[in-house]
Amino acid sequence: MKTKETPCLVIVGSIGIDTIETPREKQIEILGGSVSYACAAASFFTKTGMVGIVGNDFPAEYRALWEQMGIDLAGLQTEEGKTFRWSGVYEENMDNRRTLLTELNVFEHFMPELPDSYRSAPYLFLGNIAPALQLHVLEQMTEPKFILIDTMDLWINIAREKLIEVIGKCNMLTLNESEARLLTNTHSLMEAAKLLLSWGPQFVLIKKGASGSMLFSRDNLFLLHAFPLADFKDPTGAGDTFAGGLMGALAESNNTDEPAIRRAMLYGSVTAAFGVEEFSLARLARLDRAQIDARAEQLKSMCTIS
Ligand code: AMP
Repeated sequence: MKTKETPCLVIVGSIGIDTIETPREKQIEILGGSVSYACAAASFFTKTGMVGIVGNDFPAEYRALWEQMGIDLAGLQTEEGKTFRWSGVYEENMDNRRTLLTELNVFEHFMPELPDSYRSAPYLFLGNIAPALQLHVLEQMTEPKFILIDTMDLWINIAREKLIEVIGKCNMLTLNESEARLLTNTHSLMEAAKLLLSWGPQFVLIKKGASGSMLFSRDNLFLLHAFPLADFKDPTGAGDTFAGGLMGALAESNNTDEPAIRRAMLYGSVTAAFGVEEFSLARLARLDRAQIDARAEQLKSMCTIS
């Protein structure tokens, strides 16, 4: 997707320069952030517009990488100051992660303003930023057909009411299992999903890491296992890659019924599995659609009974 068409999918979120340590390797000052992973994943399926903020220290090579992936950068703001920095370390099992440093920098005063070319996009993904800013983005869209919202424990703890207000205006909510329990004060995921659906969205997608994901609607439950990998290097941004791939595939299909969402989950899942094979966007930068389609067929056959 390298043409100058207007975006069909708009994604807002964080852009970070990350330092990440796993038991085997440490990488310093690499490209990260929820919108970076999500737009990269979505770019394989549809024209995607990025809404985010960087400082004037942001490396030109990272911007060039997004451009090479065909991502529309009209919604990217560059401000005087330093780009958001984040640093984390993974424990031996690669499941638990500790945040070592969060430096908001220019992200602290982020006020997302959408270019005119983004406002009539039919698909919107509100990635992980403050709920008030997610609402501000949503309110600038003229005719959104399908809105997905993501969040994290920070916002559940400090902006719960606002978060619930925005969730009520979205078609689908995605969060991981611990966030679902925290937001609903419920241990059972079945009960948690029921409560979350009662707040307005038609779909709730609960992510369970390598164990896969659960899609709840009022009448149905769909379970998808993650694509099994023998090895991976860095799980950072896997949820954003999953959600970005899902929304890209949904926009490409131009269909928002439940079977279309199930198919889009398959694409989100395999795109995320590629992403974690290397740090940052390294693997996604070398990926092509044929590899994604081949892996999607493999996962589909692993999940089919007859
Ligand atoms: P995830 O693995 O889904 O938690 O996403 C990791 C990405 O989120 C990293 O690349 C970070 O740059 C970014 N990040 C970390 N902390 C925050 C925060 N408080 N707000 C927004 N983005 C963040």
